[in-house]
Amino acid sequence: MPFELFWELHQREQIREAASAAGRARSAAAAVGQEIEDLRRLVEKNLMITEALWTLVRDKLGWSDDRLAERVIEVDLKDGQLDGRVRRGARPCAACGRMLGKDRLSCLYCGAVSKDVFGTAAGHPGDAATTPPASSRPPRSGRSR
Ligand SMILES: [Zn+2]
Repeated sequence: MPFELFWELHQREQIREAASAAGRARSAAAAVGQEIEDLRRLVEKNLMITEALWTLVRDKLGWSDDRLAERVIEVDLKDGQLDGRVRRGARPCAACGRMLGKDRLSCLYCGAVSKDVFGTAAGHPGDAATTPPASSRPPRSGRSR
């Protein structure tokens, strides 16, 4: 086989492999793009539901948007950092006190099922009271009802 023919066959094989790899990359990129679009729609739906729930609570209980903002900061700080993110960590089992992995819904040791759907055993500041004393709240500012 002359060298030129061998080289030509080699080049064609290289081109075929490159075209195949490009096709796989296009498919993977399309799948990721679809996943991002699905997540975007889910986030938008959750934002709508959250806003609907908040406006119901606000209108029903007469709470202000400032109070919501304060609560958001409290929730943000539950992981120790005010950074707009909630990092879930290990937490103690409510029944036996042993540590549960961040994604476990039931205890490996005693079998208790966690009711802590947010992954924070500490609970939520202000859960017991519907309205803190006015003296503990900062003065109102901005939009509120
Ligand atoms: Zn347990």
